Amino acid sequence: MALTDREAELVGRLDGAQDLLEQELERLVAVSSETRDAAGANRIADLVEAELASLGFRTSELVTGVVGRTIVGRRSSDSSHRLLLLGHVDTVHPAGAGFDGYRVLDDTRATGPGAADMKGGIVVMLGALRALVASGALEDRQCTVVINADEEIGSPHSGDLVRAEATDCHLCLGFEAGRPNADGSSTFVTARKGFGRMSLAATGKAAHAGVDPGRGASALIELCHKAVDLVSLSNAETGVSVNVGVLHGGTTANTVAATAALELDYRFPDEETGADLEDALCDIAARNVLRDPDGKPLVATVMKDQIRRAAMMRTDAVGRMADRITSWGGELGLRLVEESRGGSSDAALAAEMGCPAVCGLGVVGDAFHTRDEWVLRASLVDRAKLAALVIDRFYAL
Ligand SMILES: [Zn+2]
Repeated sequence: MALTDREAELVGRLDGAQDLLEQELERLVAVSSETRDAAGANRIADLVEAELASLGFRTSELVTGVVGRTIVGRRSSDSSHRLLLLGHVDTVHPAGAGFDGYRVLDDTRATGPGAADMKGGIVVMLGALRALVASGALEDRQCTVVINADEEIGSPHSGDLVRAEATDCHLCLGFEAGRPNADGSSTFVTARKGFGRMSLAATGKAAHAGVDPGRGASALIELCHKAVDLVSLSNAETGVSVNVGVLHGGTTANTVAATAALELDYRFPDEETGADLEDALCDIAARNVLRDPDGKPLVATVMKDQIRRAAMMRTDAVGRMADRITSWGGELGLRLVEESRGGSSDAALAAEMGCPAVCGLGVVGDAFHTRDEWVLRASLVDRAKLAALVIDRFYAL
């Protein structure tokens, strides 16, 4: 296939947009928006909302008071093709930690907190939407955009909204970053591991460590035993991993720790493996280690805050769409490769509702969640062109 004149005009609108898109990225990255920083996230949400409104989207918002606002933009029609676009404004990088602002590294790359994950993706999405609106391609089309601010903590506040929006959509496109390959190709994502988070809170009994150690029951030691058992469920062969990332408790070195807390993150490749893993996690959490001479448990453990995203599977429908995207990218001179990624994203929430979801269509970059996070500058335009073409052709399917 070759681009039609109309399609050439559509993607041609992004020729020469490099400076504009890069300035937009600079502007978004300049505002620090770690998930807990609701004020920062809201400043970016304001920019995104204004841009969507200027493009003819009717906007609304979900306010939680805990994290930044979730912005929903809609263009409505009763057309049969219903599309959902996803992005998030939050990052994992706290303000004032020495990794601030957008910085050009060289001719090809730039860095900054959230530049790849995923402020660059928001710039790509908005760039594509501008071109589509300017060429009239969104006239009488249904398109919903959801930009949330709690993705990096598993979308506990906005997840149900994303699920609800996905329920009656035919395609979800996620604008998390793609990754570059050494041969010049870049990836987009058609499968993601499922993930969950759990926290355990343990309560034992304090005692003086020297005077009366036998009267105490260490919540900390109880959780240390559990931590070792929990991480031992990791299995590279089955694609399951369990990480205990936080473990703390106690007050002073000479006091038996009365309280302790543990937070863990787990990943799984499919639902069956995920369910088995969760059974095993719960068994370990419930199994008492420290006991008195009569066998009575000494420490009480409760499980809290379970967050979960299902695994995003490459279904037949996803596979068909991915083949189209790969071939359509080729018409733009882009070499695209499918990737199955360990990290989760909100596209998995759409997939969970039966909406075919393709992710990783944002800017191309790497080293996400680290201070080396970087983007390929030219990919802002490349990926905006790709998104514009994919969206335009989706409506013609
Ligand atoms: Zn992300």
